[in-house]
Amino acid sequence: MADVVLRPELHVAIVGAGPRGLSVLERLLVQLSESPASGPVRIHLFEPGEAGAGRIWRTTQAPWFLMNTAAGEVSVFSNSADGGPTRAGYGPSFAEWLREHPRWSGIGPNDYGPRAVYGEYLRHAFEAMAANAPLGVTVRHVAERAVRLTRQNGRTVVTGSGGTVVTADKVVLTTGHPRVTPDDAEKALLTFARQRVGLAYVRGDSAADLPLSAIGPGEQVGVVGLGLTFFDVMAELTEGRGGRFVERDGRTEYVPSGAEPHLVAGSRSGLVMLARGRNQKSPTYRYRPVFVTEEAIVEARRRAQRTTGSAQLDFARDVLPLLKLEVEHVYYTAHVRRRLSEEAAQRFAAIHAKSTDRRGLLEAWGLADVPPPDLERLARPFGDREFDSPRAFHGTLLDLLEQDIAEARQGNVDNPLKASLDILRDTRAVVRQAVDFAGLRPESHRMFLSWFNPINTMVSAGPPAVRVAQACALIRAGLLTVVGPATEVVADHAAGAFVLHSPFVRGSRREVTTLVDARIPRPQLAATADPLISQALADGLITELVNVDSATGQRFPAGSIAVTRKPFHVVDALGNPDPDLYALGVPTENTRWFTQIGNGRPGPMTGFHHDADAIAADVLRHRPAVAPVVLSARPRAAVAI
Ligand SMILES: Cc1cc2nc3c(=O)[nH]c(=O)nc-3n(C[C@H](O)[C@H](O)[C@H](O)COP(=O)(O)OP(=O)(O)OC[C@H]3O[C@@H](n4cnc5c(N)ncnc54)[C@H](O)[C@@H]3O)c2cc1C
Repeated sequence: MADVVLRPELHVAIVGAGPRGLSVLERLLVQLSESPASGPVRIHLFEPGEAGAGRIWRTTQAPWFLMNTAAGEVSVFSNSADGGPTRAGYGPSFAEWLREHPRWSGIGPNDYGPRAVYGEYLRHAFEAMAANAPLGVTVRHVAERAVRLTRQNGRTVVTGSGGTVVTADKVVLTTGHPRVTPDDAEKALLTFARQRVGLAYVRGDSAADLPLSAIGPGEQVGVVGLGLTFFDVMAELTEGRGGRFVERDGRTEYVPSGAEPHLVAGSRSGLVMLARGRNQKSPTYRYRPVFVTEEAIVEARRRAQRTTGSAQLDFARDVLPLLKLEVEHVYYTAHVRRRLSEEAAQRFAAIHAKSTDRRGLLEAWGLADVPPPDLERLARPFGDREFDSPRAFHGTLLDLLEQDIAEARQGNVDNPLKASLDILRDTRAVVRQAVDFAGLRPESHRMFLSWFNPINTMVSAGPPAVRVAQACALIRAGLLTVVGPATEVVADHAAGAFVLHSPFVRGSRREVTTLVDARIPRPQLAATADPLISQALADGLITELVNVDSATGQRFPAGSIAVTRKPFHVVDALGNPDPDLYALGVPTENTRWFTQIGNGRPGPMTGFHHDADAIAADVLRHRPAVAPVVLSARPRAAVAI
């Protein structure tokens, strides 16, 4: 009689199965197929929505909600398809998948597909990964919200809203975009609306989840924010109401249905978000920074340590000048390319990278009269300028946006301005190296998030040009009023309405009956509306990152979950990394920068998959603490593992 060793099953719970949760599942399965586990593995994905697509990419949302990334730049698989079945590690990019499905044939690699279609792709990816999981590995979608995390005998118990209980060895939190409780200002707006018939206040969220159907035709609707969610709200209340955008004589025009309301929108800048350049880069394009390099950041840290006694950086002093140089480098290189040739551009770039007299160099190449891009001015073009009337403001705004559309249409390589701004996307990895894990001094960290981040987003992460053209069409059609810079929103008791107004535009005061906050809630751990996260925080299983300056004691609570560097263990209330609990993506935003990403890229693995890979490796490195069970069994009773 032989002894049979029953290896205990490894239970892994992933909480939240949007793109990030899917990426963790993917890398777990890849690693398990490359090096099979010694025992069975069970992976439980808690997700109340569709596994893979999750909430943001749910397949049932309206087709006018578009992605903000060109289809050809997107893959959720960490390697290309290899001719075998689609499975973890090997599958089509989004563009390749679209080509395989004739009903989506209209969406090319440089197009921005509907979010619902990307959701279909993600769901398909999940199903293929689960169906082709390696032997001994079970993937289970628990279609419930996880509502509680507790510890029991050294393991973590995850309780679902439907009563499912999973005792897990490892738990990964990938809960994505948060819902937060209203702050005092929002509570006042909610109360104001509740106390008056005919008024409504709609809190910020993914536009597909906003209750906008009650808005009546012709109603005056205030919209707070002119960023990506503004375009979604705009699409829902125009295309979603049966209106159509048409091209006439090279210009976008709007054909109303009569069912749309009138939008009155405003923001801090008063500027409709600028368009991103038409994509001209190949899916596998990777930029090698010249100035804002990893070495330069390391050197800046050494310098900071020497001079201040702390390796924390000051973003404005240590990083921004490098970033600006990088932007200028690409800007002037693109100018040379446009004026002369690709060969000349290469030559110019090589000299500019090493030049100690850049001014002289620009003169020599006939570029002395071309001013470099001014990021702040681009994002806040109106400054303190005052306008006599809404009409005068709209005139200036439309001129500016038409110019922006023209530049965006030239592309993110050919147009010098759009090429240089696109580099802000391509250099994010290096900026992260400077910013992440309290890499900046507390005050600089706060400034980075409140000042630089919005500017950066405004100039480099905008919608495709078609959306900006649609906003212009609505302004011209009299269906969209942009209020102006420094828009103020108040609940006006005397008027019995919400009022929007810009101190820089005379006559801009507008009363509205519905007010929509078109901004995605920022991560604010202390204000989370997710019972799981608030309970884990209250019980000290997770904590908020507080950036502390060791020299001055200055503190900045960042609003995000504190995690270690890879593999992103959460830090508990005693300050210890928890070996069994990880957090990745949006809940850790501010601990890490720009984690709000929903895909990798085709070709070599990018940060999106490397993050997940690190967690997967750590999960599988550590086996359950439970000792193997040894059975004295007859051979025919042996359990195959
Ligand atoms: C409207 C919108 C559009 C965007 N468009 C783009 C784009 O075009 N390109 C791009 O790269 N990025 C885009 N982003 C950025 C976005 O961060 C990512 O695309 C992506 O959705 C992030 O993936 P995630 O898995 O981290 O979070 P999410 O997509 O938010 O997924 C998290 C999942 O966790 C689930 N969950 C939360 N709490 C629990 C719980 N307690 N128990 C169980 N499940 C839970 C949620 O249901 C959700 O499905 C967009 C973001 C938004 C909000």
